[in-house]
Amino acid sequence: MEFEERRKILIDSLKINGISDRVLDAMMRVPRHLFVPEKLQDSAYMDMPLPIGHDQTISAPHMVAIMCELLDISSGMKILEVGSGSGYNAAVMAELVGDEGHIYTVERIPGLADFAERNLKRAGYKNITVLQDDGSCGLAEHAPYARISVTSAAPDVPQPLIDQLATEGTMVIPVGNGEQQLVVVRKDIEGNVSYEVWGGVIFVPLIGKYGY
Ligand code: SAM
Repeated sequence: MEFEERRKILIDSLKINGISDRVLDAMMRVPRHLFVPEKLQDSAYMDMPLPIGHDQTISAPHMVAIMCELLDISSGMKILEVGSGSGYNAAVMAELVGDEGHIYTVERIPGLADFAERNLKRAGYKNITVLQDDGSCGLAEHAPYARISVTSAAPDVPQPLIDQLATEGTMVIPVGNGEQQLVVVRKDIEGNVSYEVWGGVIFVPLIGKYGY
């Protein structure tokens, strides 16, 4: 079966998670097989995380879909991702913000920052900037961000990320060691911050100044 046909079957299967057509259409436009190591391309359209080297993973498609859905991403938004990994989640978010928006994605491991950069270039994305740094401190120079997506689990929500979230902004972040919860952080127009627990998840740890 061709990659596109396999992708269609995968995306159709995600509809049961209550994911909107807007997110599913964005995922349909991203060739996930270009974001996994070549020897794993055959598994790229299975709904599971896959190893990408350096003891890290590309997240399962349903998790990417759920996080994008919770973020309620609109065209033109400026978004920060912490944990580029393969670059796949950044690519899905780039589809959602369109040419008017921009994704800044920060990766701690130099070899993975290069991997994400290469994959995104090969897939043709121009509205994404990959930076190698400790993303637990956020990325102050381009703040504030309308949305923040953290793709590794933190001990607590890092204060710099709360500070760098725009008013009326939303952040999704897995929190916890062992038992992890996906937390949705919202900042209202007056700057008040609220927290909502979505449910249990499994992510690799956020390593850094505000991580483990
Ligand atoms: N979003 C990725 C994708 O689409 O492939 C998956 C990310 S993987 C589950 C988590 C990533 O977070 C790993 O690549 C890991 O190196 C990275 N990470 C962990 N701590 C970090 C930190 N302090 N700053 C930036 N990246 C970090």
